[in-house]
Amino acid sequence: MEHICNILEKKSHLIAESGTGSGKTICSIAPSVEYSLKHKKKVLYLTRTNSQQKQVIIELRKIQDKKKIFGIGMQGRKNMCPLLDDRPDLEKGSAEELSKICGDLKKASIDGGKGCKYYSNLLNHDIDDVRALAKRDIPAVEEFVGLCKEYGDVCPYEANKLLLKEAIVITAPYIYFFSPIIRRALLDWMNVHISDLIVIVDEAHNLSDYARELYSRELTVRALELAALESQDIGNPQLTTDLDLSGACNMMQNLIQSTASEYVIDDDGLVPPTEIREQLMSRLKGTSREVQVMIMNMVTHGDIVRETKRKKGKLPRSHIFKTATFLQDWVMLEESEYAKLVSAGDNPQLEAYCLNPAKATGILNDCHSSIHLSGTINPIMEYRDSIGLPQDTDCLSLPSPFDKKNRLVIFTDDMTTKYDTLAQDEEMIPNMKKLICEIFDKYHRNTIIFFPSFSLLARFSDIAAETKRDVYFEEQGMSQEELMSTVKNFKLKEGAIMFAVMGGRISEGIDFPDRELEIAILVGIPFPKPTAKHRSLLNYYDRKFGKGWEYTVKAPTVRKMMQSIGRLLRRESDRGVALILDSRITQFKNEIPEASITEKPIEDIELFFN
Ligand code: SF4
Repeated sequence: MEHICNILEKKSHLIAESGTGSGKTICSIAPSVEYSLKHKKKVLYLTRTNSQQKQVIIELRKIQDKKKIFGIGMQGRKNMCPLLDDRPDLEKGSAEELSKICGDLKKASIDGGKGCKYYSNLLNHDIDDVRALAKRDIPAVEEFVGLCKEYGDVCPYEANKLLLKEAIVITAPYIYFFSPIIRRALLDWMNVHISDLIVIVDEAHNLSDYARELYSRELTVRALELAALESQDIGNPQLTTDLDLSGACNMMQNLIQSTASEYVIDDDGLVPPTEIREQLMSRLKGTSREVQVMIMNMVTHGDIVRETKRKKGKLPRSHIFKTATFLQDWVMLEESEYAKLVSAGDNPQLEAYCLNPAKATGILNDCHSSIHLSGTINPIMEYRDSIGLPQDTDCLSLPSPFDKKNRLVIFTDDMTTKYDTLAQDEEMIPNMKKLICEIFDKYHRNTIIFFPSFSLLARFSDIAAETKRDVYFEEQGMSQEELMSTVKNFKLKEGAIMFAVMGGRISEGIDFPDRELEIAILVGIPFPKPTAKHRSLLNYYDRKFGKGWEYTVKAPTVRKMMQSIGRLLRRESDRGVALILDSRITQFKNEIPEASITEKPIEDIELFFN
């Protein structure tokens, strides 16, 4: 808290690493609120997922016991718009599409037509009861939705917007700040200038990947098939003298397929910067002007489709429009900040991959201050540089609040999942399996085996048949519901075993307190796959910071391992062992100093638990 007070006074930034359960949320909110009340600032607490807002609301209520403050949660229409229950056809709408539909309905309500009944209710009721209760109880978003239903059945999304001006703390998902359009709207609703905003970023280790994804674009062959169908619906207009709309969509499909055949090695391939434009010119038998004309005409037709659907009250979606804007971006994007990639498989695609997360996160420098919190953000300098914070940003790594004796981290130096070794040493995997089975036999304690990938997990899945204990699997593409039910069953069964992946949803987002998890076995080191995408990122970081390997290989690998190991201790009284089956862990001895070599893992685990 002292560090936070200092950086608020200095109008600077803080990155703080501190273990789960150490009280990061309350320690960041309390001084920020105090400062904001004194200096007329506002606090925006950003979370990766909607469910993480709950903790912020709980802490605000605790503060409220001592000091009158008002805080509120904000989420998108998908979670707050009651009309979506009446109109299932809108459920799959993107934020932008729902915003357009909502805008039209509100306008109709204001004009006295058949707009949105929840908005009309809002126009005809005051929300004093909702406001008073929200200020008294600081409801979570779902509770606020319930309040709005009870008091006048008013639109919770719009009522929430009205209250944002009065709140001192707002908690919202990342997108509300890192998407420029949504940020402008949010600052307007909050009635605050960005320089008066204190931003707290929760689970900050996710931010770089999130920001890269936010600014990346893809065009798939399947999307082009949909665009071709859409062009038939609008009479397949001409784009140039020799090319109609569905012809252009087919041409693009062929172009992606041929680019994939030419450049993909294994998973993906780098596309030379001017390749697609040149291919388009050659296929159109024209200059770059003809390519521009084709794209502009596509934009126009796509826009007409969107507007026509919008007038009919349907989701204003156009695959033609999406295709055209992708091509516009692809042709215009800054070569130094993006990698142009192609991938093959069932649904080949072009991807403009954003290499520089600071394109989205650089805006943090315009705030009064920003505070970045994570349980595992080591190496901190990588985070600071990646997201574009100044060199003098305060970096704080706090020791774990838990007793060191409660966790044992050991590794074997005669095992590895290194590709070359596995290819040469046929005994390596059977030896690892034998050791894991011995641990299954010996310890009836909840155990998760973490793998670097689903494909390696599959090579070990046969050992599930060797034990009588209950075994569960994290599966690729599992729905959130399926995953949660699998995790719930695992937690309920004493001595259960789970197969999961490092960097997956189980290793990064789920708590296993008490005896819900006592042994974590890490089979291999989760190095990033050497894809063309990853190589581009490595080269970019080499050019920009001279630290390609440190920032794009070492940093994410350490974080994934630490997240997996971190599942063991969530509370002061938890105890657990992490066993790493890979000698390459010695490359990370500065980052994971507690890892010690073991020659007798079974005995060492026994000693620890005894
Ligand atoms: Fe939904 Fe509210 Fe918009 Fe109506 S006004 S469409 S209820 S968000």
